[in-house]
Amino acid sequence: MLSQGYEPIKVISWQRAIALLSLGKIEVIEEYEHDVRSMKLVIKIPAVVRLLSAFRRHKQKVKFSRVNIFARDKYSCQYCGFKGKMDELTYDHVVPRSQGGKTEWSNIATCCYDCNAEKRDRTPAQAGMKLRSLPTQPSWMPAMTITVSTTSAPDAWRDYLYWTSDLTEKSDS
Ligand SMILES: [Zn+2]
Repeated sequence: MLSQGYEPIKVISWQRAIALLSLGKIEVIEEYEHDVRSMKLVIKIPAVVRLLSAFRRHKQKVKFSRVNIFARDKYSCQYCGFKGKMDELTYDHVVPRSQGGKTEWSNIATCCYDCNAEKRDRTPAQAGMKLRSLPTQPSWMPAMTITVSTTSAPDAWRDYLYWTSDLTEKSDS
């Protein structure tokens, strides 16, 4: 289910979607191939629906995740300024973990693979590279993220989801 502003809010069952549809609360944006018989009507099963009224979101802390780091940095490398897609970007420990740098908002910057390879496990000063902005914890609420397995999500959802994956401790720079 999407908000009025087309942001994903939550995953609901198709039965719930049809119930909301019959109440006039949502509109169907995408549908599946399969028909369903409901209230003497035959309709396609809704795949993506949109709320017709404003959704009040609760204030919550911005989740520390790859997608939110990229969003904070506007999907651009914080060293060379390259703007890329999610699969063209990685994240950099500004102070490398080998020198005590932590995996937290203030020490993680969006980075292209070239700059990441060039910087290696050095600080920007040691590598002679300059950060375009200092990483900080965002105070804004980014697009709400819903964690759904990329392998199990229906194709009809793909255009509407912001794929998220939590930062893991395996890759580093
Ligand atoms: Zn770069």
